[in-house]
Amino acid sequence: MPVIQGSRGATVLVGMDGFVVGAQEVIDGELWLFVETTTDVTGCPSCGTRAVGHGRSRTAVRDLPVAGRPTVLAWSKRRWRCSDPDCPMGTWSEATGEIAPRAVLTERARRRLAEMVNIDGAPIAAAAAVFGVGWHTANQAVADHTDCHIDDEGRLDGVRAIGVDEKRFLNATPTRRTVFTTQIVDLDHNRLLDVIEGRSRDVLDRWLAHRGDDWCHQIRLATLDPSAGYRAALEQHLPQATLVVDHFHAIRLANRAIDECRRRVQNHTLGHRGHKRDPLYRARRVLLTGYERLTPERFEWMQSLLATGDPDGEVSACFIAKELLRDVFAAADEAHARRRMITFYLWCADAETPELTRLAGTVSRWAEQIFAYHTSGGASNGRVENTHMLAEKTRRTAHGFTNPTNYRRRLLGRYGIKWHTQPTARIRGRQPRFIA
Ligand SMILES: [Zn+2]
Repeated sequence: MPVIQGSRGATVLVGMDGFVVGAQEVIDGELWLFVETTTDVTGCPSCGTRAVGHGRSRTAVRDLPVAGRPTVLAWSKRRWRCSDPDCPMGTWSEATGEIAPRAVLTERARRRLAEMVNIDGAPIAAAAAVFGVGWHTANQAVADHTDCHIDDEGRLDGVRAIGVDEKRFLNATPTRRTVFTTQIVDLDHNRLLDVIEGRSRDVLDRWLAHRGDDWCHQIRLATLDPSAGYRAALEQHLPQATLVVDHFHAIRLANRAIDECRRRVQNHTLGHRGHKRDPLYRARRVLLTGYERLTPERFEWMQSLLATGDPDGEVSACFIAKELLRDVFAAADEAHARRRMITFYLWCADAETPELTRLAGTVSRWAEQIFAYHTSGGASNGRVENTHMLAEKTRRTAHGFTNPTNYRRRLLGRYGIKWHTQPTARIRGRQPRFIA
């Protein structure tokens, strides 16, 4: 015999096995559902003797919203007592897998909260607010529903091409150096594989060693930030893979040369750091823009700024060097790219600008990996572009994290795991249940 007069409709709606819903009330805009289990006979967990009721205690947990309304399950929890006076069990409360002891959320609400963060991309704080819980409670729910997927090595199956990038994690403060991470992505599936602390040969070494020989030997292609440490680790573990420095990374080196040269010339000519009225400072962004993206007016404006700010033409030389390096990547094939590279070297040599001497040196150390961009075929522009879009998205998502474990979980939960969600049936169209 049910203990309370259950509401069949509400019980179906709540849909928790073994529970019935009694009273329903709206309190301060929240729906309160008063629930109980249907159990009225149970045995002692210690000796198996039939237990007797020992009163009830009330516990309230937040559940999934019902029809858009925040919902609380108020569970009138049974207490039981062993009827054998010699049994050490004494009294106990009934338990359910759906509501953990002392929880503030039902299990399915915790699962939904994790989906909001991992699948919908909601910030933890926003998901916490939807369920009326604190940040730490929400973060723990996400951890419980994400970490087992992250630890599952199966998510790394089928990878043939990887991209290795360094990413700034925390900016330097007076007491701390800038903290970097290494992001490893799957180039074919545009998916984040891992985020590891540091950017040295060692960290990548360890990560690849952990994957094992079988995994490593399947990798045919790796794109990388031009870093000697990354190169050493990749050459050691992936001897069969083609290493590629893609245009994004190479052009970043050239942009760095432009910035350094601009600051040096600025300081040399005006004796102070760039100010918003200084011509070179005003040109800082346009100098990093691709030539074909500049309107004739904007290009002329840049030239007029350089005419006053760059008397020896050194910054201009850097701008042109960057464009010549871009031409190497835009070449139709490898032979074409090699010829264009000679033009780039000659330009840098003639410029007699320290930043360009250094840039040409770096580029020549990576020349084969740059030409591999053309020969590998696999490193098609599309895949590389996808990867940089992914990197940009992770940068935005990762903003504001200071804890590396939360940071890694957040990025992998969002961009590293293929989540399976139940497809929803279309509401319009054929609905045999109603036609019948
Ligand atoms: Zn007992």
